[in-house]
Amino acid sequence: QHAVPHASVDKLVAKVARGETVDAAGGHVGYAAYVEAGGYALLRDCVAGRHDVEQVIGTLEASGLRGLGGAGFPLGRKWRIVRAEAGPRLMAINIDEGEPGTFKDRVYLEHDPHRFLEGALIAAWAVGIEAIYIYLRDEYHGCRAMLEAELDQLRANPPAPGMPPIFLRRGAGAYICGEESAMIESIEGKRGMPRLRPPYVAQVGLFGRPTLEHNFESLHWVREILERGGDWFASFGRNGRRGLRSFSVSGRVREPGVKLAPAGITIRELVEEFCGGMQDGHDFYAYLPGGASGGILPASMDDIPLDFDTLQPYGCFIGSAAVVVLSHHDSTMAAARNTMRFFKDESCGQCTPCRNGTAKALALIEQVTWDTGLLGELSQVMRDASICGLGQAAPNPVDCVIKYFPHELTQTQVQS
Ligand code: SF4
Repeated sequence: QHAVPHASVDKLVAKVARGETVDAAGGHVGYAAYVEAGGYALLRDCVAGRHDVEQVIGTLEASGLRGLGGAGFPLGRKWRIVRAEAGPRLMAINIDEGEPGTFKDRVYLEHDPHRFLEGALIAAWAVGIEAIYIYLRDEYHGCRAMLEAELDQLRANPPAPGMPPIFLRRGAGAYICGEESAMIESIEGKRGMPRLRPPYVAQVGLFGRPTLEHNFESLHWVREILERGGDWFASFGRNGRRGLRSFSVSGRVREPGVKLAPAGITIRELVEEFCGGMQDGHDFYAYLPGGASGGILPASMDDIPLDFDTLQPYGCFIGSAAVVVLSHHDSTMAAARNTMRFFKDESCGQCTPCRNGTAKALALIEQVTWDTGLLGELSQVMRDASICGLGQAAPNPVDCVIKYFPHELTQTQVQS
């Protein structure tokens, strides 16, 4: 194991205890500074054969690191699956970050761009990747200029022999291109529409080749875990969960921002310990645990561990850990209308349950009185028959309002 301390990550981890906001103040760690602090030494050791692929993948598996874009697929297992496919193999890195309320990738990218690049190059070494494609959200103009400059530095000073080419591709503002197969279509120069699966991207992905697809943050943690050990990452966590999660917290809290916190923390703990509590004059009323698609829960359900798999029984999910906190000044009906309007606009239109379902659902919830029976049937059809997660999850906020906030439905009818 390397024991090189990395000030930037140490600072982030220290914030777990202090609950401070992670920001990019002071600029980013450029190529020279990153190398100066021990960066790319691990990659060099890997490529020189001083680390064993099996041991590296085993450490990642022991850490419990899962895909942090929202799907939560175990990272080590994905490496094994793609590695077992016949080459040539490619890699696609998703920095589309389009889920409303999510901004963690941008913060880490602005702060420390070479950390994820080293993670990507270690993955390329372990899996046998021939080319890396980075897909960056077009709205991140500043990030793109910075990343292009840092990639030029990296190409001019390759830290290890045999580095695969790295291509930077710009998104064009479509939310659906954050879905892995739609992103791959977009990188290939086609309209971004999700593919039917199987075959999975790991088998038939970019340009028809087996593809290792990762969210930015998943790769951001690779180096730190390999240097500190799988147990280090797994040692964080509460309520029986393991690891760290980067929550993008917004809404009525005193100190919004990216909060690096233990997996399994509850919303109450997150708000109190990491966000300075609620804003003055605002009582905690409800929260969206996973951006626009992860549903809405009432303040009374404030003791659920926030992590992959823990929210499904309540009709919600954590996704990319974008937490939006609402107060008694807010309305969950309005929030559900807002998210459905977004999904209607962002539906790629490929399948009827989503294309027509989002439009129909929006029309129904723009009425003063909600037809809950019809909305329930529509949700079921969208869940069962939509091709991808957009259409399947779009009804979540509406279903939650009907289930957990029935008093709002009655109040509205009384007021009208
Ligand atoms: Fe497109 Fe919606 Fe169908 Fe997904 S569910 S493929 S976004 S129309």
